[in-house]
Amino acid sequence: MRKLAVAITGLELPAVEKISESRAEDPFQVTIATLLSARTQDATTFAASERLFRKASTPQAMSKLTVKQIERLIYPVSFYRYKARYIKATCAKLLKGFGGRTPSTMEELLTLPGVGRKTANLVLILAYQSQQNICVDTHVHRIANRLGWVRTRTPEETEQALYRATESRWWPYINLYLVTWGQNVCRPVYPRCPACAIKDLCPRIGVATVSRTAPENYPLDPASVSESST
Ligand code: SF4
Repeated sequence: MRKLAVAITGLELPAVEKISESRAEDPFQVTIATLLSARTQDATTFAASERLFRKASTPQAMSKLTVKQIERLIYPVSFYRYKARYIKATCAKLLKGFGGRTPSTMEELLTLPGVGRKTANLVLILAYQSQQNICVDTHVHRIANRLGWVRTRTPEETEQALYRATESRWWPYINLYLVTWGQNVCRPVYPRCPACAIKDLCPRIGVATVSRTAPENYPLDPASVSESST
């Protein structure tokens, strides 16, 4: 984790991290941006979130939009029709059940439509500065298994296994580090193992084929990627 902390410097941050930073860690906006981010490219998530928040940045304002208006604002995020309905329903629930406040506990967050453990953990970490949560998405699940930190089949299993396998001081950072790594280096296919800052620590479990390319803005040992091929 210490090596990754250094290695991610200069790499593009995940969209929800950027939105959280630019939007003063607003819990409502972090919740909505995380909902939008599911199965969607980061650039698309970021642009859709900005369009939506420029129009409505609070549950009160967003609840006044129709589902159709939300759909148009968030298109082309994947499953935009479902997500628009979840957003509308989440705003209604926040207004009716929580006085317009975004809750700060796992139990309450899970009562919001479309909010699962991944979204709830990220809201708790980014908006409420929790030190007790690990947010596991597909990147974290994949890389934790490649590194041999866990042997699990689902992100839900990975979250629980990571609480046992890692020191708690790293829990709030696991998502940021591994998602950034997963988007730039330890990609789902053709991971960039020869250029990887933690290759000496990694058994590469399940990795069959690697890429010899390196991401932009990445401080490399040039010798490690001298043969250019994919
Ligand atoms: S060595 Fe390869 S599999 Fe291991 S973390 Fe780095 S990129 Fe991922």
